[in-house]
Amino acid sequence: MPEGQVSHRNALLLTRAIAGRPLVRVHVAEPRLAPQRIDERLTGDVLQDMQARGKHHLFRFRSGRVLHSHLRMNGTWRAYDARADIPSRGLWLALATDDAVVAQYRGPDIRLVEPGEPIPRIDALGPDLLADDAVPADIGLRLVGIEPSREVGEAIMDQRVMSGIGNVYKSETLFLAGVDPWRAVGTLTPEEAGAIGEIGAELLATGVRDRGRIRTYRPPLGAARADTRTWVYGRRGRPCRRCGAPVRSRGQGDANRTTYWCPDCQR
Ligand SMILES: [Zn+2]
Repeated sequence: MPEGQVSHRNALLLTRAIAGRPLVRVHVAEPRLAPQRIDERLTGDVLQDMQARGKHHLFRFRSGRVLHSHLRMNGTWRAYDARADIPSRGLWLALATDDAVVAQYRGPDIRLVEPGEPIPRIDALGPDLLADDAVPADIGLRLVGIEPSREVGEAIMDQRVMSGIGNVYKSETLFLAGVDPWRAVGTLTPEEAGAIGEIGAELLATGVRDRGRIRTYRPPLGAARADTRTWVYGRRGRPCRRCGAPVRSRGQGDANRTTYWCPDCQR
């Protein structure tokens, strides 16, 4: 699943790959995109800059058009050399200059916006935990300013509150912060809310992706091989790495995304 740190790395890679050079070829591979005629509208245009916020990617072109992509669960963007054979499986869209190709896989939300048209949702996004000028503790404090009855585990995934935390980092952040995901945000102290922002930003910045899995836990030297490289995520029923109590899991929020937590370490 793409989470914040991936989109930032991607923003750099994708921008370096194709910015400043005209698109010589725009290939629409996914039939659902065909009605937008993205190939006709973008061929010859030049990428000026590209921005990633949470799972949103915005490509701004010289014509004033903006390509907006939201990755949801499985979408991804990749950059390739122009001479490479790019994988066709899952391909939705490819933008090629003479030097490089950036390719979008598994969609699912892609829209080419004409100059002056509103870009959906992006204006309502909360601050990005990985932005250069981000103050993560202040971003965490935004939690205490929202509807007090909402559960913490749902609120930290709300891209209007803070941008970047996906389902894995939700469970991992709240475990390390010692905060029960089922608490109402109205019960958070400012210290707890600030710590959630700081820990989330730290995890996003240092999380390692290994064969598609996020690693946030490193077993101590000499320890037995870990079942997973996470503190609680994906560890239902296994002993908590701190206290040994069985890790629990349950669907949370309107989207019923699974939350993992330790009932003893998280209060
Ligand atoms: Zn525990």
